[in-house]
Amino acid sequence: MLRIYLYGYLNQAQSSRRLERECGRNLELIWLTGRLKPDFKTIADFRKDNGSAIRKVCQQFVALCRNMNLLDGDVVAIDGSRFKAVNAKAKNYTRGKLRQKLGKIDKAIERYLGELDRADEVLEQTGTVLPEARMERTLRKLDHLQKEAVRYRSIEQRMDQTGETQVSLSDPDARSMATTARMPRIVGYNVQTVVEADHHLIVAHEVTMLGFDRDALSMMAAAAKDVMTTGQLTAIADKGYYKSEEIVASEDAGISVVVPKPMTSNAAARGQFDKADFAYDSEKDVYICPAGENLTYRFTGQQDGKAIRSYWSRACADCVIKDKCTTSKERRVRRWEKEGVLERVQERLDGDPTQLAVRSMTVEHPYGTIKLWMGATHFKMRRLKNVATEMALHVHAYNMTRVMNIMGIPAMIAAMKA
Ligand code: SF4
Repeated sequence: MLRIYLYGYLNQAQSSRRLERECGRNLELIWLTGRLKPDFKTIADFRKDNGSAIRKVCQQFVALCRNMNLLDGDVVAIDGSRFKAVNAKAKNYTRGKLRQKLGKIDKAIERYLGELDRADEVLEQTGTVLPEARMERTLRKLDHLQKEAVRYRSIEQRMDQTGETQVSLSDPDARSMATTARMPRIVGYNVQTVVEADHHLIVAHEVTMLGFDRDALSMMAAAAKDVMTTGQLTAIADKGYYKSEEIVASEDAGISVVVPKPMTSNAAARGQFDKADFAYDSEKDVYICPAGENLTYRFTGQQDGKAIRSYWSRACADCVIKDKCTTSKERRVRRWEKEGVLERVQERLDGDPTQLAVRSMTVEHPYGTIKLWMGATHFKMRRLKNVATEMALHVHAYNMTRVMNIMGIPAMIAAMKA
């Protein structure tokens, strides 16, 4: 059964019905299965019932790549991409969408009830009865709207009970998430991958239900470190992964990360000096401001569980460029106690900005290839655990194709047998 699936995923035939057909007519599959012709249900059940074993096959192939010295590089790129689930957008509800729909229904019900009231008035005043068909249509519409309102309210109740912020009716684990400006939202999963930069093999992947990447950096970097040979791993990611705690966790795990900082400074937006305009002198533990004054350490406070140190100078009152700096009594600069780690990461990026180009050249191509293989509908199964199995098969097929291209098929088979 695994042979059938590997053949299917290598040849863009992923559905169980298609594989059933191919087992009967495709000479390669007939040879591969020894003329066995399992029906689609048997094929589908194998994938559904053996998810964790299939995921292990994918991991073992990565381990094999390591044994073949294909994972000796020291740079990996991390990225996330949204894949469509078996769940139409119309069957995904957020609280906002439900409120909007219920609001429209309330207005429509009001309009139809008004129509019925007017019909009663006409009957009272003139004795004229409006056409029966029209009245029936209005009542039918009212009935339909009331049923729809009950359905939406029951979804709202489900959200209240589970605490979820959205509900997907076809695949309950699928989430509405933003993609790009051109294609704003899909209902699906966020697949995280780590691709090594030398041979472009996918060394780790994870299917998540989160619509953003910012919590995934340390998890994915650590997964890559476990399989790469080097002890000095560099992990490059885009600004969507910038989160102080995640960067520090990765660096603490011995992984050098390269992540650009998003430009979100309020001061810069107001036309004032940004924190980056204040140079930190670690020896003296002071910030030097654009006017050349020292901002000295004053006290340490707590914010979101983080120890934040505050610095300021008494020279602000007489500063000639104060209007470009602050509207308060003095400009205060705040520093997280682990900010030195973030500064080291920034220096690493400033020292070699070309690393960001390595990221896009490394990690974006596998996504494009896998999505092309998947076709327009992406995943075929529902629920996170099944989708994770599907993704493992796609990643495995991608890695096998890469290794066949790099080493040739005989060398790969020899390595697998060894
Ligand atoms: S206002 Fe204070 S911190 Fe800002 S430039 Fe002037 S002296 Fe420096």
